[in-house]
Amino acid sequence: MQTTTSDSKSRLPVAARVDAVVVGAGFAGLYAVHRLRKQGMTVLGIDAASDVGGTWYWNRYPGARCDVPSLNYSYTWSEEVRREWRWSEKYATQPEILRYIQFVADKFDLRTDYLFDTRVTAADFDEDAGTWYVKTSAGDRIEARYVLLATGNLSVPNYPKVPGLGDFAGPVYHTGKWPHQKVDFRGKRVGVIGTGSSGVQAIPIIAEEAEELLVFQRTPNFSVPAHNGPLTDEDHLRFEADLPKFRKSLENFGRVPSSAYSAPVPSDEEQRARYNHLWENGGESFLVAFPNLLTSQEVNDGAAAFVREKIRTIVKDPATARALSATTSPFGVKRVCVDTNYFATFNRPNVKLVNLRQEPIETITHNGLMTSTGRYEFDELVIATGYDAMTGAILAMDIQGRDGRKLRDEWAAGPQSYLGLMVHGFPNLFTITGPGSPSVIGNVLLHGEHHVDYVLRLIEHAAGKQEPTIDVTAEAQDKWVAHVAAVADKTLFPIANSWYLGANIPGKPRVFMPYVGEGYRTKCAEIAALGYVGFCFNETPVLSDSAKSA
Ligand code: NAP
Repeated sequence: MQTTTSDSKSRLPVAARVDAVVVGAGFAGLYAVHRLRKQGMTVLGIDAASDVGGTWYWNRYPGARCDVPSLNYSYTWSEEVRREWRWSEKYATQPEILRYIQFVADKFDLRTDYLFDTRVTAADFDEDAGTWYVKTSAGDRIEARYVLLATGNLSVPNYPKVPGLGDFAGPVYHTGKWPHQKVDFRGKRVGVIGTGSSGVQAIPIIAEEAEELLVFQRTPNFSVPAHNGPLTDEDHLRFEADLPKFRKSLENFGRVPSSAYSAPVPSDEEQRARYNHLWENGGESFLVAFPNLLTSQEVNDGAAAFVREKIRTIVKDPATARALSATTSPFGVKRVCVDTNYFATFNRPNVKLVNLRQEPIETITHNGLMTSTGRYEFDELVIATGYDAMTGAILAMDIQGRDGRKLRDEWAAGPQSYLGLMVHGFPNLFTITGPGSPSVIGNVLLHGEHHVDYVLRLIEHAAGKQEPTIDVTAEAQDKWVAHVAAVADKTLFPIANSWYLGANIPGKPRVFMPYVGEGYRTKCAEIAALGYVGFCFNETPVLSDSAKSA
């Protein structure tokens, strides 16, 4: 890397020229830096955090852990890492996941190519030079041929638009931006707003510590038990032995299978037996109980009723049990929470559920909040209101592609992309696990690996050209966007006000963003086998046979 720095002690390049900039030091970003380097390219990674970790750097709230089993939520690209790392639990805690990421960063010396504490603010494409100019909050101006946005789908915290938030006198913690030092809730009255995956994990732990806990719930979520437990060497060995099978299964991680549309509705007995079994085993495998769980309202109703019945048996107060039972959207079309003791926490004498459907928040006050019918006092406030998901981190940057077109304008009515990987008119810019790809459905870590590998192959494919540019055609993009929507429309997903649809952010266009169709990797491989149909190399589009003969 050629650099000129303003301060010889800082490794901050004020100006630099590299082959590739990677934005983000989470799982996908680190892997991208590793791969690009191995390919012999100069690379600069940039992250707003002070160290590696991505979402796992920020999400330090009590109870934070992954709801994908640790053995699956691990890189597949390094046999060495797999051999040397041992997970201690079925569902790893945030500190353990962060240690894993740090272990990988140390092992492959990945930090040396990163600028930390630095936020990318803008990126402009210079058509003549075939170069991106990447600008940062620290005043850097980096020239790069390629830009990989590994900015994470859940990385821009969403704060509730509630009057008075700034007036609260006590500490306010967002789960997605938790302090590094332990927050001690002992002897405190704590309010929590939000009952998605983050709230559902944090609430039982805070309840054990706080003197009093008020949970402000707008919409109840479906949650299934984790049944977490220790992992043994045998578990690791068994997983290694099953690795080929696991790798094969990646193809359809999280997708709605095509068999869903012809599958019969299982009998009540069959459903009950299956759900009982899955409830006892725990985890999000509940989502694949039946192929048509996310396409048939009738089958879905059975799963929803089963979970509601479980809540009634766990929660002693019938009114609280009712309030905790999700009824406004089908099971699984908002991300299902995976919990430890969540519902049972509401049996504790120090925990009270406030149902915001009955009494909406009117204002936060200096010592609590007021709803339409009540006044609640607490000393500390935890905000678990989620993220501006999938597009938030990308659109936080001012990205300008060919002919001065702005990504913010291109995506004003919702994200447009080909394969969730590239946007027409933004050459050599890659959205790793971007909207339009399976990304957050299934296992985002492994979807990220797949995207990085694909980008590297695209770059390799283009490498023969002088000053290579890779773009996608408007036609391929339009077709893909329509396909993503059509696949989602055949499922129950669009019914719910989920962050998959941007429905959690006031004013955000309501567009279903992840790809839930079958065979995403196969489609990507087929496109590659046909010379990358739908992509453009140095402005020459690769057309399908039918388009050529048209
Ligand atoms: P979330 O699922 O978006 O949940 C946000 C919660 O805040 C919802 O209950 C929402 O209610 C509530 N809320 C938002 N604005 C509000 C307002 N103005 N007033 C009152 N309540 C409000 O966010 P999250 O829990 O942070 O989870 C986001 C995603 O991150 C998850 O779906 C998951 O994919 C990932 N995650 C994973 C893990 C894990 O691996 N275990 C842990 C945490 C997060 P409404 O539903 O009414 O909007």
